[in-house]
Amino acid sequence: MKILVINAGSSSLKYQLIDMDGEVTVAKGVCERIGIDGFFTHKVDGKAFKKEVAMPDHTAAFEQVKLALTEGEGKVINDLSEVSAIGHRTVMGGSKFDRSVIITDEVIQAIKDYASLAPLHNPATIKGIEAATAAFGKDIPQVGVFDTAFHQTMPEVAYLWGLPYEYYEKYGVRRYGFHGTSHRFVSARCCELLGKPNGEGTRIVTCHLGNGSSLAAIKDGKVIDTTMGLTPLDGFLMGTRSGAIDPSAVTFIMEKEGFTPAQMDAVMNKKSGMLGISGVSSDDRDIAAAMEQGNERAKLAWDMRSYQILKYIGAYAAALGGLDALVFTAGIGENQDKLRAELVEKLAFLGIKLDAEANLAHGVETEISTPDSAVRVFVIPTNEELVIARDTKALIS
Ligand code: ADP
Repeated sequence: MKILVINAGSSSLKYQLIDMDGEVTVAKGVCERIGIDGFFTHKVDGKAFKKEVAMPDHTAAFEQVKLALTEGEGKVINDLSEVSAIGHRTVMGGSKFDRSVIITDEVIQAIKDYASLAPLHNPATIKGIEAATAAFGKDIPQVGVFDTAFHQTMPEVAYLWGLPYEYYEKYGVRRYGFHGTSHRFVSARCCELLGKPNGEGTRIVTCHLGNGSSLAAIKDGKVIDTTMGLTPLDGFLMGTRSGAIDPSAVTFIMEKEGFTPAQMDAVMNKKSGMLGISGVSSDDRDIAAAMEQGNERAKLAWDMRSYQILKYIGAYAAALGGLDALVFTAGIGENQDKLRAELVEKLAFLGIKLDAEANLAHGVETEISTPDSAVRVFVIPTNEELVIARDTKALIS
């Protein structure tokens, strides 16, 4: 059975065709600059096929995906009917979705209704679903896999803020959390590695560290707290996002600078974080390189992030009533051994011990704690596309 996984952004559309017999990626690619001009990349067996091609909208982008899969050098299937179903990464499912679902008209409406909470992401998902329907016909099963779903087990004490309760009731203002698909994948794998595949009795902190980053505290396989909130802005310093700040700083800066809400939003989401403090870059490799050359602001950004992550791990260890395992994943988590070493060494008070040599591993599943460490520490590469494909297969079977 082959499943097509779609991750639609406002001007991009990533796809991956996964053969569920063996769970192998048959082809993947990305349509970029949709609605601007159009750049298309299709990859098969490590070989990339690239072209500039006009893609005025997501439907035109989907046409390119269809062509690439069925025709020319990068062809991997004879006919679209070989694709059994389509799974869509969906960012915001609010409190309505605590698991993946088959996409119906009602689900589409709910994704649209949540667009006010995810104005960039949910409308893009809708475009992806509509384009998929146009390309494959309305009979192909489509599944929505929500970034927020895995976090729905959080208790009220963790997901509510101390604002008047009416804003939660009227507008759904609360912590939802994101990257749930990744936290779910790596925590499930961690439970397997701990020898407790159903998660019972486990206390885990998962660190998804990429351009956007979040931590989750997971007890008995269920999220009890996470760092992202109503939007993916909460938590600690990310590439360009501020993470948590005193909320009064927002209104203060708006007044001083005469910013509209949209302008302030752009400052916090696009000009802050590692970029905002370092003035160098949002990319971690650039920050690390600048640090090596003695750039003090790059080092400050780095140290601030480490400090903030450390505080969250400490807080989550308390919330979990102890810690059995710590997991690092995503671009930075899987590759940045210096950050991992720094964090693990500062957590020595918990009895964690780093295996410095194992920690040099990049992008491969590795246990990076010593056998006598009181807390096991793992690097587990994430695979959100595989989770989406697995959920899709399970729902249509
Ligand atoms: P996203 O999916 O949120 O765009 P990723 O999970 O791909 O992000 O992570 C991107 C981040 O990972 C970037 O800051 C990048 O510098 C960092 N990264 C990727 N590869 C490496 C590496 N080999 N060493 C250090 N950092 C890396």
